[in-house]
Amino acid sequence: MKIYLLDLGSLVIDRSDVLWHIDVGTPVRFPVYGVYIDHPEGKFIFDTGYDLDHVNKVLPFELPEQSPEQTLPAQLAKIGVKPEEIDYVINSHFHFDHVGGNRYLTNATLITSKHELRSCLVPEPFERLGYSDLSFYTRGQTKVEFIEGDVEIAKGLTLFETPGHTIAHYSLLAEPEGRRPMIFCGDAVYTFETLERMIIGGFHLDPVDSVSAIKRIRQVARENDAEIFPSHDMEPWLTWKHAPDYYGK
Ligand SMILES: [Zn+2]
Repeated sequence: MKIYLLDLGSLVIDRSDVLWHIDVGTPVRFPVYGVYIDHPEGKFIFDTGYDLDHVNKVLPFELPEQSPEQTLPAQLAKIGVKPEEIDYVINSHFHFDHVGGNRYLTNATLITSKHELRSCLVPEPFERLGYSDLSFYTRGQTKVEFIEGDVEIAKGLTLFETPGHTIAHYSLLAEPEGRRPMIFCGDAVYTFETLERMIIGGFHLDPVDSVSAIKRIRQVARENDAEIFPSHDMEPWLTWKHAPDYYGK
């Protein structure tokens, strides 16, 4: 399998939302990216970034920066893939900055937990902004495959449960040939500082579960000698390979 990181722009939040209660009043610009996996069993995407119009309308205070080149179709075009060719889309969770590109994947089956979908459609009051982009799902139209627990969705591609940030948040363990396994954490781990200091983000459903999710990611990384890829850490992001470059073979 080949693993491509798709550059889908950036947003700004307060550092106290990255590290709960720390450095209030310090804005931080962070990257938003998706992962495209070209696998013998199909074409998969894990997380699809945000929709610029949606953020400008609903959350303009997050100061979106997304060039025409940083949209999902433009990123896939760099690899020679059309959005309608994608077979499966997985969102670590349904926050707006992880689902905005799903709308382009018109033939893809959405792999998700029914708990995450229910929470998103009927959110707690404090989750409404996070779950504000519902364009990824049309009842009766979107093809959905529900999963429970940890699931190997294709050979060497395992979704494992890391709830806390949201009710049924998933992280992805990918084991490409020819390199160390890779863990894509979604928002269970925003940054390497999250991992090192064990400080959860300010946006979460359950803080205790969120701490357990960080521990689980560390454990899965140890067991598999995997490299960890946090979701929103600008400095390391800039050092990783970006599409059309890729990991694996
Ligand atoms: Zn989130």
